[in-house]
Amino acid sequence: MITKGPTETRDAGRKLAAKLRAGDVLLMYGDLGAGKTAFVRGVLHGLGYEGNVSSPTFAIVNEYYSRRWEEPVYHFDFYRLRSLDEARAIGLEDYLSSGHLCLMEWPEIIEPLLPDDTLVVRLSENPDGSRTLEAR
Ligand code: ADP
Ligand code: MG
Repeated sequence: MITKGPTETRDAGRKLAAKLRAGDVLLMYGDLGAGKTAFVRGVLHGLGYEGNVSSPTFAIVNEYYSRRWEEPVYHFDFYRLRSLDEARAIGLEDYLSSGHLCLMEWPEIIEPLLPDDTLVVRLSENPDGSRTLEAR
């Protein structure tokens, strides 16, 4: 789909949230500024989290709480991660096996640690400033 403006990107995330289940792993691919965090914001709002959502670029992972599911949701940003060992050191494998939803920006570097059945959204900016979102 194509989104014209951040509100539409958020709404797309909100819509997807209705189809997610706890334990899913959702990967967001896309360049810097593509709209990954905006999309995650929509997913979290769709799950009943009301507060602020910012990218955990330095923290690598932020924990949120879904009021709809009454359980945690994890949001990762691996942009600054340099190695798989760093991913293991923050406990990535424990997060993945926690049974809680994991939302991941910049997942390229941790692909070897991921399960086979991930959900993928690819975001890209079009010449007119809109964004294309593809899910699979
Ligand atoms: P990323 O996490 O991929 O680096 P962000 O989610 O931070 O990107 O989004 C970067 C900027 O793009 C934000 O200001 C966001 O509001 C804006 N944005 C998101 N979707 C769209 C869109 N469809 N059209 C224009 N701007 C958008
Ligand atoms: Mg981001």
